[in-house]
Amino acid sequence: MERTLVLCKPDAVQRGLVGQILTRFEQKGLKLVGMKLRQFPKELLEQHYSDHKERPFFPSLVGFMGSGPVVAMALEGIDAIAVVRGLMGKTNAREAAPGTIRGDLGMSFSNNLVHGSDSAESAAKELALFFPGADELVDWTPCTLEWSYSVG
Ligand code: GDP
Ligand code: MG
Repeated sequence: MERTLVLCKPDAVQRGLVGQILTRFEQKGLKLVGMKLRQFPKELLEQHYSDHKERPFFPSLVGFMGSGPVVAMALEGIDAIAVVRGLMGKTNAREAAPGTIRGDLGMSFSNNLVHGSDSAESAAKELALFFPGADELVDWTPCTLEWSYSVG
């Protein structure tokens, strides 16, 4: 099992798409193990996107992410990191395939609705950043587990 960080970006919250986005992850069979809505401080967002700090769009990206509330979720499942990235679609929403979140719901490169961790290292770093408390992520067993994964 893997855990990954998903953010519903400010455009998703403003457009009232958080429920639809969460539904896609739930329907796929990913387990929600943490969730919060916050307007996150600039310092945290700069740390979150530190890999991009030399890129020209870094200030506008951090500004956008801090411009309104964001919903942060921790999702768990087999290959959760890659599965989430697949459901999100390509970064530029105009190029994202139909059927993906960005492909179905967005038209922008920057305001592209969702973030998902891109590797095990990023997931560990990002989950610790957005869910620092020891009790913020919950271990639980969905009654659908065997039916979703055919395990056991
Ligand atoms: P992601 O992993 O698919 O979210 O994409 P990246 O890690 O490459 O970039 C992080 C975020 O920065 C993207 O989701 C976009 O919101 C934004 N972004 C990336 N590249 C560009 C760009 O060339 N221009 C602008 N305006 N925003 C960008
Ligand atoms: Mg990325």
